[in-house]
Amino acid sequence: MSEDAYDAIVVGAGPAGTSAAIVMAKAGLKVALLERGEYPGAKNVQGAVLYSRMLHEIVPEFWKEPDAPVERPVVEQKTCITTEDSWITVGYKSLKFLEGVPNCFTIIRVKFDRWYAQKAEAAGAEVFTGVTVRDVVKKDGKIVGIKTSDGDELMASVVLACDGVNSILAQKAGFRGELKSSEVALGAKEVIALDPKIIEDRFALNPGEGATMELFGSVTLGMLGYGFIYTNKESVSLGVGCKLSEYQKKGIRPSDHLEILKSHPFIKKLISGGKTLEYSAHLIPEGGIRSMPPLAADGFLVAGDAAQMTNPAFREGSNLAMTSGKLAGETVIEAKAKGDFSKAALSAYVDKLQKSYVLKDMEETMYLEESVEKSPGFLDFYPKLACDLAHMRFSADGQPKKDHLKKALALVRKRGFLRIARDLWPLRKAAV
Ligand SMILES: Cc1cc2nc3c(=O)[nH]c(=O)nc-3n(C[C@H](O)[C@H](O)[C@H](O)COP(=O)(O)OP(=O)(O)OC[C@H]3O[C@@H](n4cnc5c(N)ncnc54)[C@H](O)[C@@H]3O)c2cc1C
Repeated sequence: MSEDAYDAIVVGAGPAGTSAAIVMAKAGLKVALLERGEYPGAKNVQGAVLYSRMLHEIVPEFWKEPDAPVERPVVEQKTCITTEDSWITVGYKSLKFLEGVPNCFTIIRVKFDRWYAQKAEAAGAEVFTGVTVRDVVKKDGKIVGIKTSDGDELMASVVLACDGVNSILAQKAGFRGELKSSEVALGAKEVIALDPKIIEDRFALNPGEGATMELFGSVTLGMLGYGFIYTNKESVSLGVGCKLSEYQKKGIRPSDHLEILKSHPFIKKLISGGKTLEYSAHLIPEGGIRSMPPLAADGFLVAGDAAQMTNPAFREGSNLAMTSGKLAGETVIEAKAKGDFSKAALSAYVDKLQKSYVLKDMEETMYLEESVEKSPGFLDFYPKLACDLAHMRFSADGQPKKDHLKKALALVRKRGFLRIARDLWPLRKAAV
């Protein structure tokens, strides 16, 4: 590593850190990007759907590059409400998703993070892998650098904590303690190899196109969470994600949960004949805006998962990480121009986040998960009700339709119209 002090040290070469490093290095700042993994992405897990617009703002038209680390552009997104032997699927398929800046791509993080870090290097950042940061260095109450696990110290005008959900840096800076098990979800996934033609047939896709499915209802085993299946070029990613506290309460391991998901008759069909290539698991910050640490201090900024920035109701995390990393980078560029790295100057980052979708969306969805948690009916009663109603609607069983309607109303009445209205009201925030 260089002996000279840096303008900025970015800890963590995930979407947040690499975005910040690219933005600052492009502006001519002296930047070090430190990553504990043997290479960027080595330790990272994501579903993974990557939203294009946020990356396009940093690497314009990245998907057109010959080595773009994208799997398939997504043309269809489905939500499935499951019971043990049925599901209702609500999907939206559109070729509009491919126009202009495609909405999103499936990716494989190991490939993506390596490619992205190379962009940071090409922009002029110094990228160091296999470096674990253990602490911040403070002088007169200000953060002035970092200390690695080898005891090396590195100095900078600003340190950016982009070290993910467990953020050792945010903890060492005194911004937060260990996360509670109710503030994180545990996501586990398998990548299952399948022939591209089989993927396209099973998911009704044209060659090269991709699809996503999120699964709720019986597949979550009564826990707050979801299952997912995403199509890659030559594999599908199949996963589950539930609150860690729920796994602890239920005493079930995510790997066993994944096996149960794989045994659902319709999922089984989608992955049949596939070969599991890898299994991985990772925490997802899901405490929402109320678990967010302070975002700025003298010489210090926090972005991405380290700052709890995710929007699980919309399957968003990596895009919030990229946008927050970019905004943090832009704030440091302005601070350097003024020669002021104080908390007051760096707090411009918070203003930028407030003006962006990041904090607006997190505020909007702040009570959504809590509402679902408070109404366990969403985990069992409603999925079953929806499938029962659909079954009646699509059955010609010799009963007059009028009797179907009576039966349907009786099922709904069991819960009470008022209670249903109260249960459903908070979900409007997940609908737009
Ligand atoms: C199962 C699962 C599915 C998901 N699916 C989606 C999805 O489909 N779409 C979506 O947008 N988001 C998804 N997410 C969320 C998304 O992965 C995160 O929000 C995103 O990765 C956050 O980026 P980040 O850069 O803040 O953190 P990370 O990606 O976690 O990167 C942090 C980096 O810091 C490094 N690091 C950590 N500690 C240190 C240290 N002490 N010293 C040096 N380096 C360190 C890590 O090795 C890592 O490279 C999913 C997450 C999981 C677990």
